[in-house]
Amino acid sequence: MIIFKYNSERVQINTESITIQQLQLGASENILIDVLRTDLIHPVISGNKWYKLRYYLEDAINSGFTEIASFGGAYSNHIVATACACQKFSLRSIGFIRGDKTEQLSPTLQTAESYDMQLQFINRTDYKDKTKIIINNSSDGRYWIPEGGYGQLGAMGAATILEKTPIENYDYIVAAIGSGTMVAGLLNASLPHQTVLGISSQKNNRSLEAEVKFLTHLENHHRFHYIPEYHFGGFAKHPQELLDFMTSFWHIENIPTDIVYTGKVFYAINDLVKKNYFKKGDRILVIHSGGLQGNLSLPKNSLPF
Ligand SMILES: *Cc1c(COP(=O)(O)O)cnc(C)c1O
Repeated sequence: MIIFKYNSERVQINTESITIQQLQLGASENILIDVLRTDLIHPVISGNKWYKLRYYLEDAINSGFTEIASFGGAYSNHIVATACACQKFSLRSIGFIRGDKTEQLSPTLQTAESYDMQLQFINRTDYKDKTKIIINNSSDGRYWIPEGGYGQLGAMGAATILEKTPIENYDYIVAAIGSGTMVAGLLNASLPHQTVLGISSQKNNRSLEAEVKFLTHLENHHRFHYIPEYHFGGFAKHPQELLDFMTSFWHIENIPTDIVYTGKVFYAINDLVKKNYFKKGDRILVIHSGGLQGNLSLPKNSLPF
């Protein structure tokens, strides 16, 4: 357990609460599918976001920085996790947010503000040039974390997702791809007999495959399979078919999922099993990477959890 002290309050990120849950899915085909429930460590800094942030935060604190700056869209789990983690560490935080400020802030940004993150809105054109934003907004004591935590420190942190899991028994490790940082870390931490499947949350973004490879060792590249077919129309797009699947998955497996990442991952697994992608006896570890607050953008009662 990792315990931070903040304002004399004890705030916990409880990595010991991670469980491995076996799915009913696959059982009748003799395929073992286990889920690593990293969504259980903390309601806000949930799942992979904590792992991707940890070494950046450590680096910042050890080097004497007092403020963290990062980037993200209005629904970015990374932004809200950064805000929450910074508050725990008594660091100031500022989020450079893609797009002009809207009258009503998204639930994600409202939450980030509630953790004292300062928000600065950047129009979509200027947002593309991160280097320029950094140059124009650098200041003493300000430490920059790349968008989505993408980078070597992020991947190093993501590799520790598997730290306490006996992974040697699995043939496949499966996870969602946003920036590709998590899957890069998983690939680096995986074993030579394992295949890592990355389910893309975005449409037609073949460059993501290269982004993952950029953060991983060359000798591991052939063990990484990029799966682009399950984006459901694009990033954060969530047609009724996806919501229906997430609902029935909840009723059968008792696992909540989100519309941006994990809903699509489990849909993909279900579909790949149906299409005989895996063979009898295969053992699969799926990373539940958290992110449930992403569902806050849905109308009330869209999902049963
Ligand atoms: C951010 C996020 C991802 C994507 O992780 P990357 O490292 O950016 O690829 C996957 N799942 C969940 C739940 C997330 O919040």
